[in-house]
Amino acid sequence: MTFYMDPHILEDETSAVARLLRYVSIETTSNPQNSASPSSDGQRTFGELLVTELQTLGLKDAKIDANGYVTASRHGAGTATIGLIAHMDTSDAFSGKNVQPVVHRNYSGETIQLKNEVTISPDDDKWLNQCLGHTIITADGTTLLGADDKAGVAIIMGVLEFLQKHPDVTHPTLRICFTPDEEIGRGTAHFPTSDFGADFAITVDGTFVGELNFETFEAHSMDVTFEGVSVHPGYAKGVMVNALRHMGAFLEKLPKAQSPEQTADREGFIHPVSVTGDAARCSVHLIIRDFTEAGAKSLCATVDQLVQCAGDAEPGLKVTSHTEFNYPNMMKYMEAHQVLVTNLEVAVQKAGISPSIVPIRGGTDGANLCRKGLLTPNLFTGAVNLHGPKEWVSVTNMGYSFCAILNLLRLYAGETPHGSIDD
Ligand SMILES: [Zn+2]
Repeated sequence: MTFYMDPHILEDETSAVARLLRYVSIETTSNPQNSASPSSDGQRTFGELLVTELQTLGLKDAKIDANGYVTASRHGAGTATIGLIAHMDTSDAFSGKNVQPVVHRNYSGETIQLKNEVTISPDDDKWLNQCLGHTIITADGTTLLGADDKAGVAIIMGVLEFLQKHPDVTHPTLRICFTPDEEIGRGTAHFPTSDFGADFAITVDGTFVGELNFETFEAHSMDVTFEGVSVHPGYAKGVMVNALRHMGAFLEKLPKAQSPEQTADREGFIHPVSVTGDAARCSVHLIIRDFTEAGAKSLCATVDQLVQCAGDAEPGLKVTSHTEFNYPNMMKYMEAHQVLVTNLEVAVQKAGISPSIVPIRGGTDGANLCRKGLLTPNLFTGAVNLHGPKEWVSVTNMGYSFCAILNLLRLYAGETPHGSIDD
């Protein structure tokens, strides 16, 4: 069986790099303030472009739906149907407007100087030293790049272009989905799960080369509201109950050892993200993360207890909380499907790369898709320093991701014992 281990095929045989440069120039920053789907017009513009490009690549059923999800199919051999997923939006943490990508060919280990005194240096960027000789793409220092996740989109388009050029390469049936609004947690809100018809899928949305993610946080969020007694401050003695002061005391009591600032690896945390309100009434939004259900529940219970104490401490104060479940740790769904885990590792190994199985201290669309019944682990794109002006991607590493996907398709093309779906 042919496997692919030359990352340069991506650049030599497909226009994935030109695609990436075209895609990042479209502003697709998602907007959490807009409840529409997609949350920004640029995402629909990008989606419509992708539909045209998919049709040019022979995926005649390519379409964009009312919520901005782009889907398409490529028929293949064998009985398996595999989904390939990437997201079209970019993070609102940094500007994605008027992105001017810069291509650094044959990177030789120097510090990359960008506008606004932004530098990307091998001294503080451990990945850069591993990319000597690679083509590196950055933004110009004034915006993020948007390789998260337009590199993923470009890699998937590269795979489709390669398969169109090489009709002799057998592969299973493919279902493609480019999703809006992943960065604001709505990437699967309107995912066409029932029509998608894949046995499993992968999101191409990981970071450095070799990374495979089968595990995410188990995520909850909580809003705690403090209602005090509001009176004229000149005549407030013995009457006023200042909600802000009580919220401040509550925040002070949150366990510091279980904060994002003091946790790493498999440790969970409680993180107050934002506050709104005034002395009469105010609220704090917290996110609660752990890798186990029990751990996440225990952290929620800690906050509940502090809510209770805050309310008990002052009769004039009303403290209420509302907890929401955000997404599950995908590992609890993956555990029963070891063949898929193994096949993904083999696909990466056959590309000549050591797989690095990393639990994500965050979520992916795959976590919620697993909950909806579609197993969806995550594969690297080669992009790093996401969501800021130092974001960059190695084209060579994009090429390894491309090879890993082709290898996975080979494993499921119905030619070997690996070709069976493990359910
Ligand atoms: Zn992403």
